Amino acid sequence: MSNMNYAVRDEKVRETAYHLLKERGVTMDHLVELVMYLQKPYFPDLDKETCEYNIKKVLQKREIQNAIITGIQLDILAEKGMLIEPLQEMLAQDEGLYGIDEVLALSIVNVYGSIGFTNYGYVDKVKPGILKVLNQKEGNEGVVHTFLDDIVGAIAAAASSRLAHSRFGTR
Ligand code: MG
Repeated sequence: MSNMNYAVRDEKVRETAYHLLKERGVTMDHLVELVMYLQKPYFPDLDKETCEYNIKKVLQKREIQNAIITGIQLDILAEKGMLIEPLQEMLAQDEGLYGIDEVLALSIVNVYGSIGFTNYGYVDKVKPGILKVLNQKEGNEGVVHTFLDDIVGAIAAAASSRLAHSRFGTR
């Protein structure tokens, strides 16, 4: 592949990742709300613009875009019943022992270091804001968010980590 083709690929990956998040009901406001929730206790003067800036920085990373596309694609295929068994059943049921949704999310958190892990674990447990909506059974019949909820939590955790590092002047 030529360099030109790589540039086109980068653009396609970026556009697809952004489009898929939106299409699956996750907006910038949702992500800002999560970062606020995680970081406001540590930075009382934190504003939405700073949250948004850090989320955008996270979403610009190719490896994070790759994780978004991969996870959401699996959710969509599970909704369509197109996966092989027993994977189909595990994803459709969001089976607790599956665990690869969390592993994929950790590949997002990983990019920004250890504060991200703590934040990810926290939002995964408390499920504030959009995370609660994605995990609701009612109104989500036939919808699979097995990967999406972890991806969204991980983006917020990574953005929080980036924000904290930049505030402390280490990054
Ligand atoms: Mg999950």
